[in-house]
Amino acid sequence: MTQLPPEASSATLAGRLAAIRQQIAEAAATAQRKAAAVTLIAVAKTFPAEAVIEALAAGQRHFGENRVQEGMAKYPALREIHPDLVLHLIGPLQTNKVKQAVAYFDVIHTLDRESLAEELAREFARSGRRLPCFIQVNTGEEPQKAGCAPQDADAFIADCRDRLKLPVIGLMCIPPAEEEPAPHFALLHKIAKRNGLDQLSMGMSSDFDTAVMLGATHVRVGSAIFGGRSYSAPA
Ligand SMILES: *Cc1c(COP(=O)(O)O)cnc(C)c1O
Repeated sequence: MTQLPPEASSATLAGRLAAIRQQIAEAAATAQRKAAAVTLIAVAKTFPAEAVIEALAAGQRHFGENRVQEGMAKYPALREIHPDLVLHLIGPLQTNKVKQAVAYFDVIHTLDRESLAEELAREFARSGRRLPCFIQVNTGEEPQKAGCAPQDADAFIADCRDRLKLPVIGLMCIPPAEEEPAPHFALLHKIAKRNGLDQLSMGMSSDFDTAVMLGATHVRVGSAIFGGRSYSAPA
């Protein structure tokens, strides 16, 4: 580890953001990747707009929420001031929330089943707003977790792209909490590569550096920026 820049103190949100950006840069350098190829998504779920305002002041522009309702409540006023704010939906999406999600979010990370893909295709056509989508893969094959099964991923990707013409840009995963994340990141990378997809949404507070070394283009970091949450929202 190199020395962190002096402004990267963990005492402030700006300091924690600086430290994380530094760690991303180091992991990228280790893997001979460009740090600019990695987008840091600040996951602000359960935290109030004030925390987002603090992050915006520190130059952060990409934010993640895992509930449509919470995103709709928190960001409209902030977007007026920061039109370059990019809002990522990283939590499960119910088909009855698709209309709102498409209206309020900019990127969807959790496309994971045919019924959702069809609803998104309808809403994109209706609204004229076509959001880039990541397909979520349940790399750990956990029954309680969202995501298409790894063995179904190729067919699902093809269906989304070829039949439904969805703007699929990459793959996303949430490895099982109790396992080494690296094999899951490597599996996601492999599935993306053989399908010609070059964006990977993977890595959270505890493992974003590993994810960057294994090719992450989007890391989703919450507690390392904003602090601990009083409840853990569903994955
Ligand atoms: C909450 C959440 C994160 C961020 O988790 P941390 O461990 O707080 O960094 C990332 N991805 C998803 C899908 C989440 O729900």
